Amino acid sequence: MARNGGRPASGFWRETAQLVGAVGRAMGITLRNLFRQPVTVRYPDVPRPYPDRFRGILALTYDPETGEENCIGCRLCEYVCPPQVIKVEMLKREKRNYAKTFTLELYACEFCELCVQVCPTDAIVMLKSFDLATADRRDLLLDKDRLHALGREFEPSWATGNRLRDMQAPPKPVRAEAKGEAKEPAE
Ligand code: SF4
Ligand code: SF4
Repeated sequence: MARNGGRPASGFWRETAQLVGAVGRAMGITLRNLFRQPVTVRYPDVPRPYPDRFRGILALTYDPETGEENCIGCRLCEYVCPPQVIKVEMLKREKRNYAKTFTLELYACEFCELCVQVCPTDAIVMLKSFDLATADRRDLLLDKDRLHALGREFEPSWATGNRLRDMQAPPKPVRAEAKGEAKEPAE
């Protein structure tokens, strides 16, 4: 009799009410989300648009006007690369030089972008894609043809060597003032 007294009975109904309330709230959330647009996409069938400044895998480029390779084989990217994953051989020609061979070990790349920053001809760029996953490391040893093919396949990132260097240069009025100051002592 003591167990069915006033307090145990009210506790039972209070707990039942709490349980029904909790189930009702959970069902409400489920129903609201049932008709929402999903935030996920069916990758890789549906790729997400990348932001302009996304920097992914590396590639070599062609000059769109002449169709010539932009790389002049100067090896600056090879010298600057911290993990030394770029190897270039220069091919000397009368009008301009080319890269005879160009290899990049992408599996050891740090994606620091230094090679892009130093390239005088915007020949090496980063792409708006990371879509190069593989279970075989040999697939990530990229030669010149593969690097050019990647450059044609994916959209380049906003950043090129010339743009990045322009960003680091002082603004034009400051440059003009500096020139004026430099001339004054001579006059
Ligand atoms: S991004 Fe950095 S680590 Fe990768 S190839 Fe370029 S310089 Fe080397
Ligand atoms: S990619 Fe650029 S920095 Fe590297 S060898 Fe070619 S021209 Fe020189």
